[in-house]
Amino acid sequence: MKLHEYQSKQIFARYGIPIPQGRVAATAEEAKQIARELGGRVVIKAQVLVGGRGKAGGIKVAKDPDEAEALAAQILQMQIKGLPVRKVLVDEAASIQTEIYLGITNDRLARRPVMMASAAGGVDIEEVARDMPEKIVKVHIDPLLGLREYQMRDIAAAIDLPRELWRSFSAIALGLWRAYTEHDATLAEINPLIINQEGKLLALDGKMLIDDNALFRHPDLAELRDVDEEASEETEARKYGLSYIKLNGTIGCMVNGAGLAMTSMDVIKLFGGEPANFLDIGGGAGAEKVAAALRIILRDPNVKAVLFNIFGGITRCDEVARGILAAMDEVKPNVPMVVRLVGTNAEEGRRLLENANMLTAETLVEAAQKAVKASRGEL
Ligand code: GDP
Ligand code: MN
Repeated sequence: MKLHEYQSKQIFARYGIPIPQGRVAATAEEAKQIARELGGRVVIKAQVLVGGRGKAGGIKVAKDPDEAEALAAQILQMQIKGLPVRKVLVDEAASIQTEIYLGITNDRLARRPVMMASAAGGVDIEEVARDMPEKIVKVHIDPLLGLREYQMRDIAAAIDLPRELWRSFSAIALGLWRAYTEHDATLAEINPLIINQEGKLLALDGKMLIDDNALFRHPDLAELRDVDEEASEETEARKYGLSYIKLNGTIGCMVNGAGLAMTSMDVIKLFGGEPANFLDIGGGAGAEKVAAALRIILRDPNVKAVLFNIFGGITRCDEVARGILAAMDEVKPNVPMVVRLVGTNAEEGRRLLENANMLTAETLVEAAQKAVKASRGEL
């Protein structure tokens, strides 16, 4: 689950990380009122769950409450990367001397969290990571020992932070680490962490991703979920209890079981295709769930073919077939579909699908090869 900037910064503040004063507004009038209370220049920031808001015009500085109102009205009408702006954060404006990047995420290869920092912070950290990876320092954190004092000093030195800021930098780094672990986050990021004109460190932006599988022990966080701002596919998938993750390829996949889903994606890639999603319909899925899954897959305009790879254990293949047929009635797919059914009631499932104009396959290899060809219009 993604948190908004204002939600992330409120959490950071509880861990002693300095943030600008400010509040969130849903209307231009509210923004004006907040600007009046703050006094002086303010920055109006679109609260959408994507990065790169600055470049998209979603962050503007206003010199007085009237301008804050006008800019808020403008930003509240925007869509950023397809997401409507429903709220803006009105923060007191900062004068920036230096922009630093500071973030923590899980390094799966190293099997532990990694803290990353760079003196080249600001809006283009992805480009820095790609073109000048040496400008990003990485320090792995032992999850049992936590972030150590010497590690924070190592980072401060590596990014050439002025000596007099090391103490406050350490407090911020430690606060970020605690916010990260105590909220079961998979990402906690400050970009930029600035040095302002007074020479003080200040977290200007904030981003947190929370591990969905840990939300049951953070009911307060689960309430922060902003359904309006999520990709509608993800909201719908959650409603039906499907594990769905959108990817960038062209082959939609419907599979039961996470292991089988991973294998199917691997085999698609082996034959030169790219999966459009990860989707696990789970064990014992009924027709309704299958229909929902197919609707979600087909909503992605990149999908050029669909591969069904179902192993009928608890799940019954005839139920799956009925779900496919029901969904096809409703969504009228215009892409080729390849189906491989094995296990419980597979025969009956295949018979049901016989007249449905689908490509069938006996093995996963055959199914993946057909799906790859079909996605290229070669079948
Ligand atoms: P993002 O583009 O979504 O990452 O949004 P950020 O909150 O990181 O803002 C993007 C950029 O806008 C920052 O790197 C700053 O350069 C600039 N910015 C944000 N807030 C302020 C502010 O209060 N004052 C000034 N001068 N610039 C700001
Ligand atoms: Mn940012």
